[in-house]
Amino acid sequence: MDHVGRQQRLQEGLSGQRLDLLLITHLPNIRYLCGFSGSAAVLLLTESQCVFLTDGRYSAQAHAEVQGARIVIGRKSPLAAAAEYLRSNRRGLGRKAQFRTGIEGEHLTVAHRRQLAEMLPSKFRLQEAPPLVEQARMVKDADELNLIRAAVVLGASLFDVALEVIRPGVRETDVAAEMEYAARKAGASEMSFQTIVASGERSALPHGRASEAAIPARGFVVCDFGVILGGYCSDMTRTVHVGRPTREARQAYQAVRDAQQAALATVRSGVGVSEVDQAARKLLQEQGLSKYFTHSTGHGVGLEIHEAPRLAAQQSELLRPGMVITIEPGVYIPRKWGVRIEDMVVVTEAGCEVLTPSSKELIVV
Ligand code: ZN
Ligand code: ZN
Repeated sequence: MDHVGRQQRLQEGLSGQRLDLLLITHLPNIRYLCGFSGSAAVLLLTESQCVFLTDGRYSAQAHAEVQGARIVIGRKSPLAAAAEYLRSNRRGLGRKAQFRTGIEGEHLTVAHRRQLAEMLPSKFRLQEAPPLVEQARMVKDADELNLIRAAVVLGASLFDVALEVIRPGVRETDVAAEMEYAARKAGASEMSFQTIVASGERSALPHGRASEAAIPARGFVVCDFGVILGGYCSDMTRTVHVGRPTREARQAYQAVRDAQQAALATVRSGVGVSEVDQAARKLLQEQGLSKYFTHSTGHGVGLEIHEAPRLAAQQSELLRPGMVITIEPGVYIPRKWGVRIEDMVVVTEAGCEVLTPSSKELIVV
């Protein structure tokens, strides 16, 4: 992993952002920048320095994992250690009336911001930095793509497990349990989010986490799941039907499949994310179903299950080669049923490569 290159690119951009230093507190951002995978750390960046701070529990892990940064093991919290480091190393920052200190507004709690302000000399002026690391993380490099591919392949294998278990009378949690057991046996560190197995009327809940409900004799079952492997997430959805589907159910499934295909067909470098969203919505509109498509068309995936960009109407981001996104339109008719189909894709110059290998034919069990 090119951790040092990532640090350097961020350091080079600091002055352009009118920042003297940047305090990274969001753990996935810290992992991205220096490789640390533990749960307590702060990364401090200036134009010339990169300092990693953690506590004693993570001393060995930090020395094994952290690349490109000076490691400081604090006696208190990593945030207190960062403040202490800045207090005692002020000279290294040069002679300035003020040090413009960027914080991650999306991730630092109000309490932590207050503590930081109390611990730092008044010369350090805290200001919310743009999501610089999140922006860098949108485009994946070759090492990341390899890890993502492996996570997607493992994730997709769980769909085969689900198909063996899904039967009328089986509880949704039983299906999720078998999938999650198989994931761990195959080396996943955890699921990338709580497994969704939503059957019958519950399939109309876009985020219907597996419940104790038994799968009914007839109806859709939405399965949305993913694993974390090597730090990277997978995410996919398949909807199967238990018992013979009605004509309406078949038509709805086909409409979602067509919408998903239409969105996939628009994905290409330079295309706006809202265009992809619009492509899916247009297809469903033609079928009178767009009012039942109540969420955005997709999102970035990487170290986190939901990351930039978001594929929604109000978003202005343009797709770039190396972005990894989901395409996941759905239709949810309250108290009746729901259908969603979701693939992960990597954006290329000319289009996209669909990573998720599983069939999208309507499977009847
Ligand atoms: Zn999903
Ligand atoms: Zn998703």
